[in-house]
Amino acid sequence: MDILELAKNIDNVKSNIAKVCLDCNRQNDVILVGASKTMSQDVIDAVNNNNLLNVLGENRVQELIQKYRDGQNFEWHFIGKLQSNKVKYIIDKVKLIHSVDSISLAKEIDKQAKKHNLVMPVLLQINMGKEESKSGFFIEEIENSISEISKFENITIKGLMAVMPICEESKTIELYKTLKIKFLECKEKYNFEYLSAGMTNDYLLAIEYAGANIVRVGTAIFGKRSYDEKI
Ligand SMILES: *Cc1c(COP(=O)(O)O)cnc(C)c1O
Repeated sequence: MDILELAKNIDNVKSNIAKVCLDCNRQNDVILVGASKTMSQDVIDAVNNNNLLNVLGENRVQELIQKYRDGQNFEWHFIGKLQSNKVKYIIDKVKLIHSVDSISLAKEIDKQAKKHNLVMPVLLQINMGKEESKSGFFIEEIENSISEISKFENITIKGLMAVMPICEESKTIELYKTLKIKFLECKEKYNFEYLSAGMTNDYLLAIEYAGANIVRVGTAIFGKRSYDEKI
């Protein structure tokens, strides 16, 4: 992919974010995570060498390990389904894990973080559509999960992450409004900082209706992927 095109896409996404924040009368504190799955090392290097993004996110451990280099001038987030037995490969490489979807995964993150003498910042994933094909906590059970996971000393819960069903815009907006209420409650109660919600098709809706301050954008930045997989 052409570097000028990449830079232009990122500028576009950033200015869309700035505009929606202005329209909603909110501070633009939105962190843009470039979802770089399936993108080649050349693309990662282009982002790095030209300081195009502060954060890249991968949803597969194998890809993250391959693309990770010491001294890259952006940070990596893990944004996809994480198997407990693979936590050990990424624990010292990522600055935030968006996708904690079970107590047992949290337990393993805690264990590996302890080994590295660090406290791992995480988000708890909410399955907004209650879809069987997707993982994450249901919004009704999130407070229980928070109190369980808060017991782990080497994890710090920084907020929530939403995975959304594919549905009509009106339904998306409704779900985002529900999410916003829950996030604000948790922000108040637990001092949560981040709400990660929104991808290429709905990041502006997520900012406007859920108050998301982290968005994960792939296609609008890197173009269409040659193959895709379930998120
Ligand atoms: C791929 C991916 C995204 C970005 O998807 P786009 O629709 O291409 O913007 C966001 N979040 C997760 C977890 C992903 O795997």
